[in-house]
Amino acid sequence: MITIKSARELDLMRQAGRIVAGTLKEIEEAIKPGITTLELDSLAYRYIKKNGAEPAFLNYHGFPASICCSINEEVVHGIPGLRRLKDQDLVSIDVGAKYKGYYGDAAVTFAVGEIDAERQKLIDVTREALRRAVLMTREGNFLSDISHAVQQYVEAHGFSVVRDYVGHGIGSSMHEAPQVPNFGPPGRGPRLRSGMVLAIEPMVNMGGWEVKTLNDGWTVVTQDGSLSAHFEHTVAVVDKMPEVLTSFTPEEFQ
Ligand code: MG
Repeated sequence: MITIKSARELDLMRQAGRIVAGTLKEIEEAIKPGITTLELDSLAYRYIKKNGAEPAFLNYHGFPASICCSINEEVVHGIPGLRRLKDQDLVSIDVGAKYKGYYGDAAVTFAVGEIDAERQKLIDVTREALRRAVLMTREGNFLSDISHAVQQYVEAHGFSVVRDYVGHGIGSSMHEAPQVPNFGPPGRGPRLRSGMVLAIEPMVNMGGWEVKTLNDGWTVVTQDGSLSAHFEHTVAVVDKMPEVLTSFTPEEFQ
């Protein structure tokens, strides 16, 4: 069942979303060659706690950190550690926060230092695919109109979308119905309604869409070793239109 959030619940989710966005902003400012992903994790932990929220990923099914840090061919669920970021790295940071019982969830792929044009294109295409998905998140559209918008845009630019991991409803649980795939034909699934909140999260590979999980039990990597990017926002349908609860760049959706 897809839950419909009340005005009060949406307000709490806006606050959770703002904390997630603020965390990503802090991380963006800290990212530079030489920093470890563990340092980014502790920065996120402190920021989330300071703002009266709980890191939603910490201890989630035993996950050992407050953020996921996935570098280069790592797609999602990378564990922060002592690895130092270096020039040309792509680092995908996924953050979740729980505020007064409600969740926010977002991810950004950041460039470390200077990156080449092909890497920049992967970032730009993934971010734009998410932007297009957000614009489809309005009352009366079908759920799979979101999925289709992502796949169409990504494949038109020569990249592929990950099939094994999908977006999700979000609210008083981090993962609620429905699943939000990043592929598929339009016009399927339930119709969107005001009060629904979705975490939409395209994962885009430079090569094939196939992925596998490493022996640590968490880190998902591309099967062919190609680079991957991941952008995510928590998006509510409010008065029939999309409202991005986790946006940290005001110009992003104009
Ligand atoms: Mg998510």
